[in-house]
Amino acid sequence: MKALLPWLDAPLLDALQRSHSHALLVQGPAGVGQLELAMLLARSWLCESPAAVHQRQPGCGDCASCRLFAAGTHPDFQLLLPEALDAACREALGLPAEETAEPKAGKAKPSREIKVDAVRQLLGFAQATSARGRAKVVVIFPAEALNAVAANALLKTLEEPSGVLRFALATHDPAGLLPTIRSRCQSLSLPLPPTDAAEAWLAGEGVEPALLKAAGGRPQLAREWHEAGLRAQAWSSLPKRVARGEAAALADWAPPRAIDALQRVCHDLLRRCHGQPGQYFDTAALPACSRVQPLLAWEQQLRRAARHAEHPLNAGLLIESLVTAGQAALAQAHS
Ligand SMILES: [Zn+2]
Repeated sequence: MKALLPWLDAPLLDALQRSHSHALLVQGPAGVGQLELAMLLARSWLCESPAAVHQRQPGCGDCASCRLFAAGTHPDFQLLLPEALDAACREALGLPAEETAEPKAGKAKPSREIKVDAVRQLLGFAQATSARGRAKVVVIFPAEALNAVAANALLKTLEEPSGVLRFALATHDPAGLLPTIRSRCQSLSLPLPPTDAAEAWLAGEGVEPALLKAAGGRPQLAREWHEAGLRAQAWSSLPKRVARGEAAALADWAPPRAIDALQRVCHDLLRRCHGQPGQYFDTAALPACSRVQPLLAWEQQLRRAARHAEHPLNAGLLIESLVTAGQAALAQAHS
């Protein structure tokens, strides 16, 4: 497994020491490392070092089990991901790609759901004997991707796993899970990391720490935006460019991300109207505004657009009209 996220050390130790449940549900906002924490739990539960076995310490990273885990070949471990996320997640974790059959011509897009077939395969693993005898662990991410049939197929195993089987589910949308799944897991909240730890990690990743604020304190999201080409300078100039009606400010962005950015602008402008500091932008980056009403109307419009953002008929026109609406709202909010 790849480099750790330093802010996970404390929650990991805490979970290992305090939780006796065979099924943990790691939850929290996206982009703070739920999957990584679930993987660290799995590695620790499987680790064969005396400290891990007897004192519930984190996986040592060095024993035979930890090395198999890092290589992605541990016989007592299963990672369940939706097809659409499989390659990206494995790469992010530093695991080798799954060997999959050549994609068939005309095959549908990879699914964003975890389907019942995958769960059935998992049940086979659940019933088999542990190969190394320490434990068997299943990580499921994101747990809300389990569709209803798949979730139901999992229920019984989740409730009374055979012997040494343990689960770590990770989600950033616990409300999207079946209540019957939630109730069978002990929940483990992963909050936003401390700012200094997150900024230090971003700096080490070659990402401007200023992007942490843009991403609402979620370091992995900040890194994702950085990789997509966002720079702090461009971000901080965005509100004033919207005030000038410059849709070009968002020209390089896919519609969902552009709309998300405009929603953050709108959110912070509303805060500014109420005399509060910006959440995603420095207050100095926000144009002056005092009237809430026009901004609320713009907010509505952005929310409607966000619902259809995956399939806009004409992305360029959509973004342009949203920026123009923002410009108009700001003109009214300022007067
Ligand atoms: Zn170990």
